[in-house]
Amino acid sequence: MDQLPYDRWYDTFNRAAGDLYPGRYTREFTRELVDTARRVAELARDKRSLIVAHNYQFPELQEVAAEVGDSLGLSRYVAQQTAPRVDFCGVWFMGETAKTILGDRCKVYMPARPGCSLVDSIDHARLQAWKRRFPDGVVISYVNTDAATKAMSDYICTSRNAAQVLDHAARANPGRRILFLPDKFLGSVSISQCSAVDASLVDLYDGFCHVHAKIGESALEEAFDRHPEAELLIHPECGCASHCMSKVMQGNSPYQKAFFLSTEGMLHHALESSAPEFIVGTEMGMVYRLRRQVPEKQFYAVSPEAVCEYMKMNTLQKLLTSLETDEVEVTVEPSTARKAQRAIDRMLSIQ
Ligand code: SF4
Repeated sequence: MDQLPYDRWYDTFNRAAGDLYPGRYTREFTRELVDTARRVAELARDKRSLIVAHNYQFPELQEVAAEVGDSLGLSRYVAQQTAPRVDFCGVWFMGETAKTILGDRCKVYMPARPGCSLVDSIDHARLQAWKRRFPDGVVISYVNTDAATKAMSDYICTSRNAAQVLDHAARANPGRRILFLPDKFLGSVSISQCSAVDASLVDLYDGFCHVHAKIGESALEEAFDRHPEAELLIHPECGCASHCMSKVMQGNSPYQKAFFLSTEGMLHHALESSAPEFIVGTEMGMVYRLRRQVPEKQFYAVSPEAVCEYMKMNTLQKLLTSLETDEVEVTVEPSTARKAQRAIDRMLSIQ
């Protein structure tokens, strides 16, 4: 994303994010942000750091980043660059994924150590017990997992390719049990999108993301009431995903205008669709990115509650402190990284 001249931040933030974060972008706070952003840019240049930000980060972090995107997309982006340092604005498992892919050739720092409710829902002992019970079973883990879980997995998947990976794993391992973890909503939507999968052979872990779980049926109905002509861009992690999928399959109005998409898929869809307005069914940081990248169209947050407090632990001031102190460096134990990379590579090989 292009860097804005700083004197335009006040207008941009209030136009594109004023309703998302009411009262946040006062003149005084925006002036502080501008000063901090200047120092961040200087230090990043001196330290040859590449700053990247996840879609759910605050607008100011998206603006200072060289790249904004989803977790795997950002890791693959930094892998193509030659910077000796990355400052990753996201949650901890994302920093681990970047470090796993980058290895020793690049140091990875984060502004804070934010956790993630979806990652926290994984019990390693339970995963190991499943593997002991089904020694020839196949484990597919969503990329939103810690490095240790990835290392215990056969395949990694993203919200973009979960159905494709599930289909491939079922075809390559006929008759074998599959464990899909940790997100039960993504798992159940993915099964319904697969042609080769016998659902009775798939165990769905019962984890979920508390932010997306809150996006339930009533949030959708209310959003459609407010914006009856809009298309709905819905992330498959949402609590309403199964309900929404069954309405889509029944051809119910207004659900014919619902699309199950990853965050990158939302951006591509918005660019290509002829629709002028969209309800965005994911964390509201994505609404800001869509408004900035597709300014000629209208985007509405599905619910004012769609905010991830883990993602919002990162601030511009903390990014500056991180650049000054090198305090929060991400490390992944080499044997864990090797095994995790194997599962990531297996996913990449089937795309
Ligand atoms: S929105 Fe927050 S809690 Fe949910 S998966 Fe992303 S980082 Fe984790």
